[in-house]
Amino acid sequence: MKILSGIKPSGYLHLGNYLGAVKNWVKLQNNKKDSGLFFIADSHSLTENLLSASEKQEQIQELAIDLLALGLDPRKSTLFIQSHIPEVFELAWIFNCLTPMGELERMTQYKDKSSRQRESVNAGLFTYPTLMAADVLLFKAEAVPVGDDQSQHLELARETARRFNKRYGKTFPEPKALLTKVARLMSLKNPLEKMSKSASDSYIGVFDEPTAIFEKIRGATTASNDLFEKIYSVQGEIVFEPSRRGIEHPEFEKMEAAVNNLLLLLQEFDSDKFKSLFSNNGIDLDRLRYSELKNDLAKAMVAHFAPFRQKRADLMRQKKKALKIYQAGAKKARITAQKTLKEVKKKVGLI
Ligand code: AMP
Repeated sequence: MKILSGIKPSGYLHLGNYLGAVKNWVKLQNNKKDSGLFFIADSHSLTENLLSASEKQEQIQELAIDLLALGLDPRKSTLFIQSHIPEVFELAWIFNCLTPMGELERMTQYKDKSSRQRESVNAGLFTYPTLMAADVLLFKAEAVPVGDDQSQHLELARETARRFNKRYGKTFPEPKALLTKVARLMSLKNPLEKMSKSASDSYIGVFDEPTAIFEKIRGATTASNDLFEKIYSVQGEIVFEPSRRGIEHPEFEKMEAAVNNLLLLLQEFDSDKFKSLFSNNGIDLDRLRYSELKNDLAKAMVAHFAPFRQKRADLMRQKKKALKIYQAGAKKARITAQKTLKEVKKKVGLI
């Protein structure tokens, strides 16, 4: 199966990106039956805050190194930078002319982001999903690992494939979403929102210093034990039983989400500790100490990322060599890209 996925360079790779995307890519690339294309969506990132040329270039280069440090391997996958494949922009234009405005207006990410960056709602933000459809369909990818924030965009890519095929004859497969286990990691401070880069104490950077990891985990929102009678783990799903003590709390939902998020992280980084918390009757809340749990979690996280931090430091010393990997990847990927674009242009009548 041909798998493709991308990530924007926006200055900081956080735990949501890691658990929702990159960790899964590294796993998928080891599956011999699949072929993976993974790319840095530099052009998509221009829809966000505009930076100076040197800042943008630094973000792209750092992400290129981060992905290698986390285990993406050019011997197993094709790695490239989006703007090095100019065919994608030609295909995106053709898709723009095929996609009704109404469909793009319905995209929740567009609605969210345009309401947050009111003064700078650019057209790129609006046509973000058609460029993403071009990313995927240019390579005729069959599966796209995504966090659930990208599911709607992927559905649009599927619809674009159907629409194109109907009008011009079978050309593209309909790519399916591969939802990761941690499809939505929540913010540490406000667990009703997904973890993102918007507030510095709400996310943990994959390459954060150990002291920062401890500090941020320590400051994560939790709940008082008397809000829950029991917390069960039913086949890995965490289930909360609201307190029978009749306590009504206005922030119940937030606290439930907070505890869920912490337990999810514990399950990822220290599964033994996670399992040990649950007996057949659920968590014994009288014994649950959040400070202890947070300390164990932070310790496990620091240990998990230590080898990656070391590899990143090594790669930083040979940056040029690392960047060449992406140039070679683009060269290889362009062969398929040019072939698909030629086929599309012929079918549309441009050549
Ligand atoms: P982006 O930074 O938007 O380019 O996202 C790169 C990848 O990380 C996408 O597959 C997203 O779905 C995933 N991702 C971003 N934030 C989260 C989150 N909080 N939880 C899970 N996945 C996420």
